[in-house]
Amino acid sequence: MAKLNPPIGMCKKCGASIWGYELIKQHCSAIIEGKPCSGLYVKKDASDWEECRDCSAEGKIDGSSCTACRGDGWVSVKKDVLKASSLVRADDIETVDHVNPSSRPSL
Ligand SMILES: [Zn+2]
Ligand SMILES: [Zn+2]
Repeated sequence: MAKLNPPIGMCKKCGASIWGYELIKQHCSAIIEGKPCSGLYVKKDASDWEECRDCSAEGKIDGSSCTACRGDGWVSVKKDVLKASSLVRADDIETVDHVNPSSRPSL
């Protein structure tokens, strides 16, 4: 079986993949829980995708649609892993409160 091409864009909301440039900035056509998805398709670069490990970018395993990539053959690369560690934690600021002027021993 041949490998699929990586998608050129995806829905911002539900993550549905698209392969047509004419769909960029159009409304998503996916149906979620019986309602049309309200998201828009946005452009993605080839580097935003990685081959699905389960199906090796073929989209199918033994003739049935791959569940890991929803049959797309590609999954979007997670780039937001570094976010949390760079934030200042609220706990660090709280330690300032332990210095209470009134409890200082007078000299
Ligand atoms: Zn969508
Ligand atoms: Zn797959």
